[in-house]
Amino acid sequence: MSASSKASSSQRGGLSSTHLVAIALGSNLGDRDAHIDFAVSRLSALLTSLRASSRYDTAPVEVDDEQPRYLNAAVVGHALLAPHDLLRALQDIEADRGRERPYPNAPRTLDLDLILYGNQIIDDGALSVPHARFRQRLFVLQPLAEIAPDLIDPITGLTLRALLDRLESQPPLDP
Ligand code: AMP
Repeated sequence: MSASSKASSSQRGGLSSTHLVAIALGSNLGDRDAHIDFAVSRLSALLTSLRASSRYDTAPVEVDDEQPRYLNAAVVGHALLAPHDLLRALQDIEADRGRERPYPNAPRTLDLDLILYGNQIIDDGALSVPHARFRQRLFVLQPLAEIAPDLIDPITGLTLRALLDRLESQPPLDP
């Protein structure tokens, strides 16, 4: 069998197959709403049938320093870009909003994380999908469960709604 006949329909280009993807957005530097508006507008060119959550004003977590509060949101839609191409496109959008990384978990104008890419599981150093820490993050699960409660995490087999319920019923971690 030739290489081309072995390729999947999504690789061949003719018969396009799309994947439902989930992306988390965050901003805690500058005009947070404008950064999120910008990201949603750019993402609408990368995803078809895009659905965007409402915005959540959240306290910073997983940070060691004093930081402004975050604005978080999420979108879901069908991606035609392959996973690594989509990640690069997300990084381009961050860069266009002046994203800098002076130290880990520094305040940021715009952060875009690829949370789910259909039922694909990828962990190759450049990309981890499902996102490695999303099940522990209320600021990711709340907006995502608002717009796609029945989307399934391929690692646990749980829906986003079930992951959120599980997290909300857990006692808080040690300080
Ligand atoms: P950050 O500085 O938090 O935006 O992290 C970006 C880094 O995380 C980049 O080096 C990415 O290659 C890596 N990364 C791995 N998996 C993901 C993912 N699912 N979404 C976004 N960035 C990811």
